[in-house]
Amino acid sequence: MSRTVRTRPEASGQALSEAYDTALLDLDGVVYAGGDAIAYAVESLATARAGGMRLAYVTNNALRTPDTVAGHLTELGIPTAAGEVITSAQAVARLISEQVPAGARVLVIGGEGLRVALRERGLEPVESADDDPAAVVQGFGGPDLPWGRFAEASYAVARGVPWFASNTDLTIPSGRGIAPGNGAAVQVVRIATGAEPQVAGKPLPPMHRETILRTGAERPLVVGDRLDTDIEGAFNGEVDSLLVLTGVTDGAQLLAAPPQHRPTYVDHDLRGMLTGQPEVGPAGDGFRCGGWTATARADRLELEGEGEALDGLRALCAAAWTAAGDGSCGLDGGKALARLGL
Ligand SMILES: [Mg+2]
Repeated sequence: MSRTVRTRPEASGQALSEAYDTALLDLDGVVYAGGDAIAYAVESLATARAGGMRLAYVTNNALRTPDTVAGHLTELGIPTAAGEVITSAQAVARLISEQVPAGARVLVIGGEGLRVALRERGLEPVESADDDPAAVVQGFGGPDLPWGRFAEASYAVARGVPWFASNTDLTIPSGRGIAPGNGAAVQVVRIATGAEPQVAGKPLPPMHRETILRTGAERPLVVGDRLDTDIEGAFNGEVDSLLVLTGVTDGAQLLAAPPQHRPTYVDHDLRGMLTGQPEVGPAGDGFRCGGWTATARADRLELEGEGEALDGLRALCAAAWTAAGDGSCGLDGGKALARLGL
């Protein structure tokens, strides 16, 4: 399936918060960064909710419980109930519960979020490979997870006990730099055992399924900052997505995105939920959005016109993605992006 920037007639001019019934929001880089709310997040979410849109927060981080995440959001000025938070711990607990007997023991390498999610499914968290576990589950354990936990997982996995991972994000951004994420911890056990885990988190279907089951969303809009988790998860779930530029993705990465990483919409920040998204259409041998026209030439992307920087980026995306087809656009868009200040 080849996707370009789509214009949905029913959404044209209509705010996304009205065109979709539920926003499935990523947290880090979308709602907050480190401990602080991202600019315009608090007021944009309040406005979307007041207009009738349901909000749900979808995180690959299995360490914190939904209660803890909801408390953090509420403190930031975004009143949130635990039931509005969906974690990869919940998704992996459901996946395990479908493959082991009711009440089975599960060896946990991870934090409280994982233990709470397992108990919610009637499973019994245990701590040792000698506890006769029916499954092993690995989720982010935070900085204090002892090395010996990886040994416990490896003993059980090497014996053939089914192995599950909440998510495989290799890194976790922190205020002090980039730290190893659960994907790095999973890699440790993979090296020791040669086995492969079943994974639940974004962009994989178990996480999307958990989100839809818990929210009852009928017309969901995925809102995220990462192409290879949030946007690819939306693509795999065949739902629309909004990329915000407040997190880890920049304009150059967006232009080079292969089909599964191309969002339906792009905007600066969460204010994009409250507006209609402008039309992007063909113009000559290129694409127009607002005052800008973007054209794919032999070796570069060319941009002409003036107006809103975001419209220029939308036109460039259409030109780049159409030129790339089912692949990644290799054309140089540096000069065009610099002109937009992006
Ligand atoms: Mg994020």
